[in-house]
Amino acid sequence: MRVGIDDTDSPRGGCTTWALTELARLARDDGLDLIGAPHLVRLNPNIPWKTRGNAALSMRLGHGLGTPTAVGELDGRPVVAYHRGREPDPDEAARYVEEARRTVTRLAPRDRGTDPALVVTPGPLPSSLYWTAVRDRTTLGKVEPVLRRAGATTWVRSGRRGLIGASAAIAWPARRATWELIAYRRPAAWGTSRRVDAATVLAAQRAWPELFLCHDPRTRRLLVAPHTACPILFGLRGTTPEAPRAALGRIRSEPVDRWMLFRTNQATGDHLVPRSVPALRGYRAGWVRGSVDAPVSVLPGGHVRFDLRDRAGQRLVCLAFEPTKTLPDVARALVAGDRLRVWGSRGPGGALRLEGIEVLALASPGRWRAPRCDRCAGRCRSLGSGRGWKCPRCRLRLPPERAGWSPVPRTVAPGTYHPTPSARRHLAPRAPETGPTPVF
Ligand SMILES: [Zn+2]
Repeated sequence: MRVGIDDTDSPRGGCTTWALTELARLARDDGLDLIGAPHLVRLNPNIPWKTRGNAALSMRLGHGLGTPTAVGELDGRPVVAYHRGREPDPDEAARYVEEARRTVTRLAPRDRGTDPALVVTPGPLPSSLYWTAVRDRTTLGKVEPVLRRAGATTWVRSGRRGLIGASAAIAWPARRATWELIAYRRPAAWGTSRRVDAATVLAAQRAWPELFLCHDPRTRRLLVAPHTACPILFGLRGTTPEAPRAALGRIRSEPVDRWMLFRTNQATGDHLVPRSVPALRGYRAGWVRGSVDAPVSVLPGGHVRFDLRDRAGQRLVCLAFEPTKTLPDVARALVAGDRLRVWGSRGPGGALRLEGIEVLALASPGRWRAPRCDRCAGRCRSLGSGRGWKCPRCRLRLPPERAGWSPVPRTVAPGTYHPTPSARRHLAPRAPETGPTPVF
């Protein structure tokens, strides 16, 4: 059976991933095993009512078969997961759902705007539920019939909106995936400043190159620890499950209360899909190809705006925001005719908020200059468009094609440009973190 939860956090605290560790503890107490690691699924980052990371979670429970692997630690005891298993009995499943409902009720903060939801299904859900929730705006009207057909048990405390995320987390096919090991603080430390030794984080990243988004060399920010009052101490992201698990022992910090390894869609770029300008409606994300339409303008605060035209001539306003550090520099150096592929999400105002720029081909701006005279080396004068050149001193005539082209030097090279690591979104495709160097 699959268990999905969403929206047990709020801007004032709480944490959906922590709630999932409590549900995993409950499963262990009930004699149920994790089948595979729990899933941490990021959904469309552009939905306006979602101010935080828009994460939902799911896990699969049953009776494990074969050899288990450690995916966490709770109350000083390991949490293990099996590659495969058999389904729980209906009585066991029903008892678990009842206890899970009570746990989620207890943990979700009673804030306005927090709509905790729990979805339990006896089998998988169609992956289309995930793809719509990560790339587009979806509605309960589309999700609820699918849940009914799947025989799902659902619970919400107030609004039903959380059902969308909880279902999408169950529906995530997890084929393209990375990992995040999240270490949690003791409850007594929640809300106080975190103690994580940055030098040991940097050493771990050097020792395990599979780790990513640990630190931003440009802004010198440590990226593993959040800055909110949530229970998370730090999160180690990796392209393999082994690297964060091995690195955990290297990080010096305040005591770790518990940890859990999540399989996640972070850094997969799953929210991006090639779109034409008209198809990239508000709150959607995507890739668009086109040519720069001059002029590029620098806005207050160091943001840069330029217009892009796709093949059909449709215009798209693109915004490179200052906190991305790298993108405004690239945007400022663009001229009309440069061919680009850009990606990002479209805000309510219609502008594309850039998450990256690929410079495919540069236009070569410049101007025609009058040739020098073959006889006296003086500068010729134009006789008019297409009519050639004439030396004012010795009257020698030269044909139009003798004009010289003087190109304007370019300060941007073809290549792919990503935001500085601290400004990358959870879903943003994985990319080098060493600075503004283009990747060819
Ligand atoms: Zn001359």
